[in-house]
Amino acid sequence: MRVAIYPGSFDPVTNGHLDIITRGSKVFDKLIVGVLVNIDKVGLFSIEERVELIKRVTSHLENVEVVSFNGLLVDLAKKNNARVILKGLRAVSDFEYEFQMALMNSQLDAEVETLFMTTSAANSFLSSSSVKQVAKFGGDIKGLVPDEIIDDVIKKIKG
Ligand code: ADP
Repeated sequence: MRVAIYPGSFDPVTNGHLDIITRGSKVFDKLIVGVLVNIDKVGLFSIEERVELIKRVTSHLENVEVVSFNGLLVDLAKKNNARVILKGLRAVSDFEYEFQMALMNSQLDAEVETLFMTTSAANSFLSSSSVKQVAKFGGDIKGLVPDEIIDDVIKKIKG
């Protein structure tokens, strides 16, 4: 069984993430979305909320699982028998950081491969932080995040 892990902060999940999840779910037998617990960074949504939002927007994808994790990504991969770390690439600017992470992860566990999927052109400008900026100043986030979570994002930003 080909299992892949798709890690990230997902604060909140965007249409760019959902696109990678949807396409990834067709390539692998099982895709595990891993929500990274970052103790140094306070997010907009709690980890539990992020997991719930991703579960909500991926409920139609039977082979997608959503978990939260802390610690090393390669340990999460090993625990789930995943040989692949799936990453999305938006722009050349993503590359340097992702390249470094991929090399570090292969240093930690040579059995795990990092594979990159290029963004769909329509989502290339999208990031969770830009969505939060737009929502904060009252801009329309329709088309940026899945429809099912628009109200959650607006409500959360308004506090
Ligand atoms: P961000 O906060 O930058 O939106 P995350 O850390 O939650 O991103 O991203 C998780 C993964 O999703 C990373 O591999 C990132 O490169 C990828 N990703 C984020 N946004 C997009 C997008 N619009 N298109 C493709 N991949 C994306």
